Amino acid sequence: QCITHCPVGALTARDDTEKVWEAIEDPDKIVVAQVAPAVRTAWGEELGLSPEEATIGRIMDALKRMGVDYAFDTVFSADLTIMEEASEFLERFTKGEFKDRPMFTSCCPGWIRFVKTQFPHMVKYLSTAKSPQQMFGAVMKTYYAQKLGVDPERIFTVSIMPCVAKKAEREMELFYEEYAGHDVDAVLTTRELVRMIRSAHIRPEGLNDIESDSPMREGTGAGVIFGATGGVMEAALRTAYFALKGKNAPADAFRAVRSLGFNANNGVQEAEFKIDDLVLRTAAVSGLGNTRALLERIDRGEVHYDFVEVMACPGGCVGGGGQPIHDGKELAFERGRQLYYLDAGARLRYSHENPDVKAMYEEFFEKPNSHKAHLLLHTEHRK
Ligand code: SF4
Repeated sequence: QCITHCPVGALTARDDTEKVWEAIEDPDKIVVAQVAPAVRTAWGEELGLSPEEATIGRIMDALKRMGVDYAFDTVFSADLTIMEEASEFLERFTKGEFKDRPMFTSCCPGWIRFVKTQFPHMVKYLSTAKSPQQMFGAVMKTYYAQKLGVDPERIFTVSIMPCVAKKAEREMELFYEEYAGHDVDAVLTTRELVRMIRSAHIRPEGLNDIESDSPMREGTGAGVIFGATGGVMEAALRTAYFALKGKNAPADAFRAVRSLGFNANNGVQEAEFKIDDLVLRTAAVSGLGNTRALLERIDRGEVHYDFVEVMACPGGCVGGGGQPIHDGKELAFERGRQLYYLDAGARLRYSHENPDVKAMYEEFFEKPNSHKAHLLLHTEHRK
C-alpha cells in the first residue's frame, strides 16, 4: 500500500539514465541540463567528496564530460520563481483579494498531490507559480531556444533533482506560440546522477570547478536556500519587503522562518513580521504528517496565516527521496545548514538583484506576472 500511495513517489522511482544517454548520443538533440539547489549538498556523499569539494561547479564539469551541451544551476530559476511568487503574494496580501488566506507555496509536487487528494477545498489557495524546475524548462524551450536560434523541438531538457516526485511533475505540458510539449524531458535524481558519473568512469577527484553556461548563469543566496525547509518563504520575504519598501531589509531579517530541527514545534516554524502597518503571519512546515496536522488546525480556525510554505519531505528537498540514502542516518538538517552557509557567503542574496533574471525580464517577460509570464511560468491547479 505504501508503494502505491507514497505522495513523493520515493518508493516507485524509475530509472531515466538510459533516456538521457540516448539524448546525449542523438546528434539532432541539444541536451540542456539544470541542477537543483539541494543536489549540491548530497551528490558528494556517495563519491567520497567532502561538502567543500562537492561543489556545484564540479557537477557542471561532470555533466559536460558526460556530453551534456549546456548546463545550468536551478538557483537561477529559483530566483525567477521568487520574482513571480513574491509579486503574486503581495498582490493577494495587499489587495485583500483572498479574505481567507493563506497563500500556499506551490513548488513541491509531493505537497501538491497531497493537498489535491486530501484537502481539495484548499487547492484554491495555492500559488499559481510553477516550480523552479518547470520554469527553467519553459524558458529553455522558449527564451533559450531563441537565443541559440534553434527549433525548441531539438532541445532536450534534463533536470537533476533531489526528488522522485519531480519525475511526475514533468508530465505537465506547456502550450506556447512556438512550442507545445513538456517543459522538462527527463528528470534524474541525485542517485541517478551519481550512477551516470560512475558509468562514465569520471573520477570525482579529477573534476574542476566550472561555471554554468550563460545567459542564465547567476544565482543568489536566496535561490540556494530553496532546498531547505523555510527557504522559499525566506527568499520570498526578502523580495516582497523590497517591493513594499523600495529598499532591502538586512538579508537575515527573516531568519525566524528557519526550522529549528526535526522535532521542534511539530515541524512547523511560525513567524510574524511587521512592515509599517502590515502584520505578516507566516508558517513553514515540512513532512506530510506535520502538514496534515497544520491544515487541520487552519481548517478549525485555530491558527491564521498569510503565507505558508509546505515541503513534503522532512527538512525540505535536502531530505528528498532522490538523495543518497544512508541507513539509519538522517542528514537533511545537516545538508540544510550547508545551504544556509552558502547563502551567508553569497555575493548576491536577494532574488530581485539577480542580473540575469533582470535581463530576462527586460528582454522577454517584461515584468513579473505579465501576460507572457503567466503563459509560461504559471499554471492552474485543479482539485
Ligand atoms: Fe520533492 Fe522537495 Fe517536495 Fe521532497 S520536498 S517531494 S524533494 S520537491
